[in-house]
Formats: sequence, C-alpha cells, structure tokens
Amino acid sequence: MEVPFNNLEISFLANQDEYEQAALRVLRSGWYILGKEVENFEKEFAKFTSSRFSVGVASGLDALIMALRAAGIKQGDEVLVQGNTYIATFMGITINSATPVMVEPDEYYNIDAERLEEKITDRTKAILVTHLYGQASNMGRIVEIAKKYNLQIIEDCAQSHGAEWSGKMTGSFGKFGCFSFYPSKNLGAFGDAGAITTDSEELTQQIKILRNYGSEQRYHNKVVGYNSRLDEIQAAFLVVKLKYLSRLTQERRKIAEYYLGNIKNEKIILPKIRKGASHVWHLFVVRTEKRDNFMEYLKSNNIGSVIHYPIPPHLSEAYEYLGLKKGSLPITEKYAKTVLSLPLYNGMTDQEMGYVVETINKY
Ligand SMILES: *Cc1c(COP(=O)(O)O)cnc(C)c1O
Repeated sequence: MEVPFNNLEISFLANQDEYEQAALRVLRSGWYILGKEVENFEKEFAKFTSSRFSVGVASGLDALIMALRAAGIKQGDEVLVQGNTYIATFMGITINSATPVMVEPDEYYNIDAERLEEKITDRTKAILVTHLYGQASNMGRIVEIAKKYNLQIIEDCAQSHGAEWSGKMTGSFGKFGCFSFYPSKNLGAFGDAGAITTDSEELTQQIKILRNYGSEQRYHNKVVGYNSRLDEIQAAFLVVKLKYLSRLTQERRKIAEYYLGNIKNEKIILPKIRKGASHVWHLFVVRTEKRDNFMEYLKSNNIGSVIHYPIPPHLSEAYEYLGLKKGSLPITEKYAKTVLSLPLYNGMTDQEMGYVVETINKY
C-alpha cells in the first residue's frame, strides 16, 4: 500500500460541481478584483472566526506584514515570537524593520507563556502568537501577560482555522488574526490567499487601504501600500470550502484520535493537547530521536512524511544577521531535529490509517 503525505485532490473532487460553478460564475461576471465575492467571503469568514470584521488579502505572509504595520510595529520595536514557527511569522516582523525576540516553545509546540516575561524589555511592543500545527496556544496566560505589560497581541492563525482556547476562536484574541489559505491549509484555496480578522472598524479600513496601494479612493493614495488583494475567484472557492470546514475538521480529528489511540511504540512521542485548547490537526507531528532514520523507514514502506520545520528561522541564512548561534535556542533546535509530520488529510481511508499505524508499531 502507498500512503502519500497529503492529497488535495480528494477534497476538490468531493465538491467538484460547486467549485466549478463558482469558477464559472466569476469568469462570466466580468468582475475579477474586489467585488461581491470578496465582500461575501469577508462577511462569512468574520462570522466563522467570531470577529467583527475580516479583510481578504493575497497571502498569509501579506496578512502578517500588513497587520503588524497597521499595529504600528516599526524599526526599533521588539516583537516576541516563538523560535519554532514557520519562517513567514518572522518575516512579518522583519519586513516591518522590527526585531524578532525569540521565545522557546512549550511541550505543545506553542510559545511558552512562562518564558515570555524574561524576554520583555522597554522596546517590546507585541506578542506574535502562532497556533502551531493547529492547536490553540495558552491564551489565558498570554492575554494576562499582554495586559500586565501593555503589549499588543497579534495571532498567526495560518494553521489554526477553527481552533479555540476556552471556547473562544483563535484569531479573535488579539488586535489582529492573520490567516493563510494556501492550498494545503485546513481552509485552503486553489492558489494563494489570506485574510486578516479584527474587531476594530478603523483598523479594518486601514488594512483595506494598505492592501490596495494605500488608497481608499482610486488615485488618491494616503500611504505607500501594497498590491495584496484576495482574488474574486479564490473568494468564491473559499465560500464553498468554508461551508464544509467543520465537517472537514471533524474528519481530521477522527484521524488524529485514531493515531493517538493506536500508535504504540516507545520510540515515538505523540502530540498532546493542552487542557483548555482545541486542536484542528493541521499537522500530526510526532517526535523521535533518530528522526531521519524513521523518515527513511516510512519512505521504504511507501508512507509520505514531511518535517515541519527542519531549520528554525534563527539558524536560516536569511536571519544570520540576527547573530544567533547554534545552541542559542536548545528546545527549538531539539524540535527541529526530532519532529516529523505523519500523513493526515481529508479523504484518508481506514485502510490507509491502519497501514500507517501498523507500520509505525513495527518500527
Ligand atoms: C503557511 C504559513 C504562513 C504563510 O502563509 P502563506 O499564505 O503561504 O504566505 C505563515 N505562518 C504560518 C504559521 C504558516 O503555516
């Protein structure tokens, strides 16, 4: 048997007619940028995330860049961020010329709230929280600390569509929630796409200006902005996908529960869920000492797997200038050497799940 790491075609085929109709509707409308499809998606997505507003943008990275800029993050400011996040989170900070200050992750792979205070200085302006792999971060503590030190919270929700902390949606805790709809995300478009959520009408307007060359009214440019709009056709696809998202999340949870209940191998460390957090299983990440050997073993048994992420941002060439040496973030670096994501996708069959478990238990 062969089990790929992911298969995006299955979810397309499951609702093929609706996606094709949505595409045709947009193609035949004669209107392709910032029209009623985007407006409709923004309304639906705000409702889904329990935010007052959402603004569609071109990607998750752009969402981060514009959210931090609208939050006033600039050169000289420090932003607390977990060391083991995807590098785009860092880029959202550094493209705004601000300084990322790395905090080690906890055992749930999210930012360790108990290590935040030791990193706060008088330059600290914000905490950029990534709900990594689909599990909500420890928002109770994070909100408490942010209040105490008067810091803004911005959430990177690129992996956490629908995940909650204490029954409250990720993306609704901070000043902004930043979402990606890259095809493989839990809510995936058919190309690049993203969104920002917020409860502030004024900030909504600021983001709308930023995404459109800094203009509210055509040819009247208030600030130097970006071209970062959500396409009409992607918005139309996303409205279809969003209708099915809770069902798709349920299915991901069933696969994760099956893995949690049936993988039994003392060499493999399974993921845990924090009390109070919900998990939407964007990724099912295990850890093992001889990770590369385990990955090779899976491959020789025709099972796909991916490392999220092999090089932590502070050790990447792009961030050499921060001057952080190997060993400066031991937990982050240990995770980078030992994590591996197992196949988990919508449409995965019982046979495929069974084969993955059986193969791992024999390792
Ligand atoms: C995917 C991802 C991003 C970037 O999203 P794009 O749409 O690819 O730009 C940012 N942060 C995290 C945590 C991600 O997983």
